[in-house]
Amino acid sequence: MKFNTHLQNLPIYEAGKPIELVTREFGIDPKDVIKLASNENPLGTSKKVISIIKEKASNASLYPDDSFYELKDALANLYEVSSKNIIIGSGSDQIIEFALHAKANEKSAILTAGITFAMYEIYAKHVGAKIYKTKSKEHNLKELKELYLAHKDEISIIFLCLPNNPLGECPDAKEVMDFISIVSEDTLVVTDCAYIEFAKFKDSKKAINPKELISKFKNTLYLGTFSKAYGLGGMRVGYGIANTEIITALHKLRAPFNITTLSLAAALQALNDQKFIEKTLKNNLEEMKVYEKFAKKNGIEFIPSYTNFITFVFDKKQNASQIADNLLKKGIILRNLKSYGLNAIRITIGKKKQNKRVLAELKKEI
Ligand SMILES: *Cc1c(COP(=O)(O)O)cnc(C)c1O
Repeated sequence: MKFNTHLQNLPIYEAGKPIELVTREFGIDPKDVIKLASNENPLGTSKKVISIIKEKASNASLYPDDSFYELKDALANLYEVSSKNIIIGSGSDQIIEFALHAKANEKSAILTAGITFAMYEIYAKHVGAKIYKTKSKEHNLKELKELYLAHKDEISIIFLCLPNNPLGECPDAKEVMDFISIVSEDTLVVTDCAYIEFAKFKDSKKAINPKELISKFKNTLYLGTFSKAYGLGGMRVGYGIANTEIITALHKLRAPFNITTLSLAAALQALNDQKFIEKTLKNNLEEMKVYEKFAKKNGIEFIPSYTNFITFVFDKKQNASQIADNLLKKGIILRNLKSYGLNAIRITIGKKKQNKRVLAELKKEI
């Protein structure tokens, strides 16, 4: 059977491995598996959120309020924008997909950093758009500017991953704003802020403010998610903030009821438990230092991270894929970055006890 030509060279996205796989393949008890591969919250989900999910379980037969009125209202309050400036997605991933369908096609291109979140490229390929990436792996705004100016008429969307997954770096908000000021009003600039809570906690200069962003630049789309700091990866809720013209266009692509009744309740409650977020951020910052110390002591290269993960880059003597495979057999799931063309492993910062075991096992492999 012939499929759309766009799909021919499109690899299937390799997601972080699930606990179930390790249990199935190596017979390890799920309790003993350490999963630090998908940047989920190691503290789990807030107790308040778990109790609301249980409380609302009997509503599973009902579709959610498709306007997502309450959730948008709560986000509008948090970010001091209007509900009309917000769209809810099944993860912020879905909003990335909407953006591509709204704005890119076979005749246009997207621009990204050299190594960044794989979904920008994958969704761009769905619509046949071309992809420009900088030579620099990390976000180099000077290079992004040069590449943008060289292909200005072609580029319809610029994706900035702030901070960047899977490398962890984050340019200052001021630099980002300066960059956006040179971009044409008809080019959409997406700032994917999936890890911004962690960045802001470490260094306030990194924090993009969505209100300021969208009031200064009518061509920007800010993305946030409940999957990382908020501990709701399994509930699939993300959001986009932009001016109403962009939000209206994205809404045309949204299927009704695109998040579930229970996801909606969970996200709303998650916003009410800021204590849980604080605990999450503190654990992350403290434990990040443990990984940095380990890397320095063992001569492993790493990029200072503004996220909830750290990426260890190995030299030629070591094989990151082999290391990741060996750890997997011991029930430790980390993210091998081979598919990004790197001899590197991305490790989500876990709880103290988990990190201790991960580093002890890693030590044996290097
Ligand atoms: C995790 C992540 C997202 C969003 O994930 P969802 O679960 O779909 O909300 C978006 N961008 C980046 C860079 C991510 O790492």
